[in-house]
Amino acid sequence: MFRVRNHKLALGASNVEFIKSPNIGGALAPKFLVIHYTASGPGADIARYFTRPEAKVSAHLVIRRDGTVIQCVPFDVVGWHAGRSRWTDKTGKYHAGLNQTSIGIEVENWGPLRRTGSGWVSWKEAAVDPSKVIEARHKFGDPDCGWETYTEAQIEATLQAARAICGEYGIDEIVGHDDISLIGKIDPGPAWNMGSFKAKVLGRNTNGPPTWTVRSPTGLNIRSGPGMEHPALRPQPLPDGTVAILHEASGQWRFVSVLNAAGQPDFSGWVHGGFLFES
Ligand SMILES: [Zn+2]
Repeated sequence: MFRVRNHKLALGASNVEFIKSPNIGGALAPKFLVIHYTASGPGADIARYFTRPEAKVSAHLVIRRDGTVIQCVPFDVVGWHAGRSRWTDKTGKYHAGLNQTSIGIEVENWGPLRRTGSGWVSWKEAAVDPSKVIEARHKFGDPDCGWETYTEAQIEATLQAARAICGEYGIDEIVGHDDISLIGKIDPGPAWNMGSFKAKVLGRNTNGPPTWTVRSPTGLNIRSGPGMEHPALRPQPLPDGTVAILHEASGQWRFVSVLNAAGQPDFSGWVHGGFLFES
């Protein structure tokens, strides 16, 4: 698994691919880890974008959808990922301008999606596979829309990288860009289960959303709307033991995002609430 060697991420005997960004500041003693999405799709090479001085942005790591990790800034150098930002740490100390105190990880993901006919498109009008979309409201209430899900390979790679980084630098606070931004950034958004991610990296329970478990020996259909008259979204019902997070309720029906094996939202829809039990 990953480890940090001379402020670079290494796997076995070699470092992960390093594509140097010129968009950097001075020395960094990292205290926090910030998670972002790139707001881009597989057609854009974000690590290469960070090599352009006029981009004026960078991040320490980029995680592609296939789980490939690319480093663009050494961990002891300031990257330009947080923008105007602030954070009050767990001891109550106020930090302004998180670039000066944090490592940034960009995870390749479109972010919010717009419905079009039967499908979904990104802000660049790129079509996104509807089976890779959840519908959810941002924790700040807005936007309430579709969101591209993260791949299991990305989540696993981000987890392993975060464990190595947090271990090396003694970091025990992980935040989303949305937690710290002063200019309304909304990444990584509701498709990133930060509670589960933090618990897995830091090895302790943090206050993520409560999860619910399907209890039905014959499974439970997930539907496009709150009622039996709405078609099932999947050919097979959700198996007994499926874990989900709850977004909203309508009568007996619950709009949920089903979590994958990595604990991250996979797809969403309506299920009958009588078969859901708090995990
Ligand atoms: Zn961001």
